[in-house]
Amino acid sequence: MKNLKNKNVLVTGGAGFIGSHLVDALLPHVAKLVVLDNFDIYYDPQIKQENISQHLNQENYSLVRGDIRSNEYLEAVFRHSPFDIIIHLAALAGVRPSLKNPTEYLSVNVLGTQRLIENIIKYSPKAKFIFASSSSVYGNSTKAVFSETDNVNSPISPYGVSKITGELLCHTAYKNHNLNSIALRFFTVYGPRQRPDLAINKFCQNILKNQPILMYGDGSTVRDYTYISDIIDGIIKSIDYANNGFEIFNLGGGQPVNLRQMITTLESALDKSAIVIKYDKQVGDMDFTSADITKAKQLLKWQPVVTFPDGVTKFKDWLINNYLKTV
Ligand code: NAD
Repeated sequence: MKNLKNKNVLVTGGAGFIGSHLVDALLPHVAKLVVLDNFDIYYDPQIKQENISQHLNQENYSLVRGDIRSNEYLEAVFRHSPFDIIIHLAALAGVRPSLKNPTEYLSVNVLGTQRLIENIIKYSPKAKFIFASSSSVYGNSTKAVFSETDNVNSPISPYGVSKITGELLCHTAYKNHNLNSIALRFFTVYGPRQRPDLAINKFCQNILKNQPILMYGDGSTVRDYTYISDIIDGIIKSIDYANNGFEIFNLGGGQPVNLRQMITTLESALDKSAIVIKYDKQVGDMDFTSADITKAKQLLKWQPVVTFPDGVTKFKDWLINNYLKTV
């Protein structure tokens, strides 16, 4: 990490899974760090409260509890401006629920992103802006690996649409206002504090409690799982990267795993068999994700290092030592 000791940083969504890890990593190294998060109820806000419990007593940390769509809260945040670095992670993040509630997804992920960008242009126009995008932008691409230069005209969920649109807003802000920005396309992130709606977390909890797990489809869907510390390293390398303009990077673990292999890996880490119930494949679920990470390797000097079995073991240790004690 480059020297950030004079830098002011804003992290939206800093109480969530990825955001709280990012705050862990940045807080000891920056002058001031502000989090904007509305503790939304997509999953239990108490989990987010625990995520930030170590941050609250740090002198250089401030929390604004509020919605990125509201100018009232944005003004409370930008009172701390100018910011040097803004990492925008706040979003409605689930793929399947976006099919049930597309309007709300577009409202938070698109309107909220635009409101934030308008305030950045007004109060912190020289900031570096990092936007959390997603592998969901690729839809059901038939390519063997997904590259940043691929067409992303065929998303299959409103969530995917919202992330493509967020990238376009970053591009437009650069073209019209010279906002220096980077979109990072995260590929299925897992690890301690993983959102409870995501499969690895849900499955591990159910296996430990001898409850069945639902396997959607025939188990052949593939995900390029990426361990949380590798994602945080990718965000920090993007902060350090001296770009001038708008860039997109894939951040993927580079070892795609199918659903059956994923379940087997969990069983062996937990030393327990899963009770698997097969269910129809869900609308909006991609068949396959696999990241071409050549660009991130070359320009960011980023390389994921945590293998899937090692990452699952680390997650299991966290789950048993922390979370399961509280439920
Ligand atoms: P998360 O739900 O744990 O974190 C998102 C945070 O945003 C939450 O704390 C939530 O309270 C906050 N938030 C939601 N709506 C808000 C609003 N209107 N105003 C203010 N705050 C709001 O999710 P995560 O998994 O940590 O994801 C972080 C980012 O990374 C998201 O933008 C997500 O789309 C993206 N992403 C995540 C993954 C993944 O596998 N976890 C993959 C690709 C992209």
